[in-house]
Amino acid sequence: MFSPRGTPLTESTLTYLRAGLGVGALLFFLALELSVPYRKPTVSKTRRWVHNIGLTAFNNVVLTLVFATALAGTTAYVTKHQIGILHLWAIPYWLKVVLAVAFLDFVLYVWHLLNHEMPLLWRFHRVHHADLNMDVSTATRFHLGELAISVVIKMGLIYLIGADLFMVFLFESLLLVSAQFHHSSLKVPWRFERVWWLFSVPPSMHRIHHSVVIKERDSNYGTIFSFWDRIFGTMTIGVDQDRIRIGVGAYPRFDQVGLGRLLIMPFTKPVR
Ligand SMILES: [Zn+2]
Repeated sequence: MFSPRGTPLTESTLTYLRAGLGVGALLFFLALELSVPYRKPTVSKTRRWVHNIGLTAFNNVVLTLVFATALAGTTAYVTKHQIGILHLWAIPYWLKVVLAVAFLDFVLYVWHLLNHEMPLLWRFHRVHHADLNMDVSTATRFHLGELAISVVIKMGLIYLIGADLFMVFLFESLLLVSAQFHHSSLKVPWRFERVWWLFSVPPSMHRIHHSVVIKERDSNYGTIFSFWDRIFGTMTIGVDQDRIRIGVGAYPRFDQVGLGRLLIMPFTKPVR
């Protein structure tokens, strides 16, 4: 496997790079949140972080053990055998990279929308939304079931389009850092946010998505690019940011959304 510049890229190098990027960005946004917070937490940040980072660490260990080899094997296989739509087109490599990232982000948009619209998927996705405050630790707080299904879908997509290791690495890195940024409880100058709204997802846009108001929650699904929401009419703007209450209405207390509760939440009674 080679990068566009011809440097050898191995699966393990990229795994370490991605992990380093994730931890580095987590600490970077945490430092910013503590320096210029958007607002005061309504529950202890330390308590939330223990649960959110605990869940993130547990998920990463299980996903790495179960899927890492299969995921790397899929990209290696499609690259070696030139399988996938991207191999059919005689276009520059950089354009294939752009198309692969845009396509994967579009499918993620659809997947996210389905997670809200389909009751079975919402059972899992509500774990992410049940966080009572939103900050950078919320970005990776998901139920293992949701992540496991999305890894299987991702392997199918890699096979379909013929994405190589670099494309998958770039997509996952952009996804991770973008999610960490727009979940962060960070006071971002409006001048910057206004420009960021045009093509990507700033914290104010995603804060609306984490509102307890269902109409607001069921919008702003974008992760890397914001234009899918604009194209398909799912973008909500103009909400008073200061009155947004974060969470799921059925779980207003912290004892309802601790780590143990989160693990069994998909299998408990349905809530909207
Ligand atoms: Zn969501």
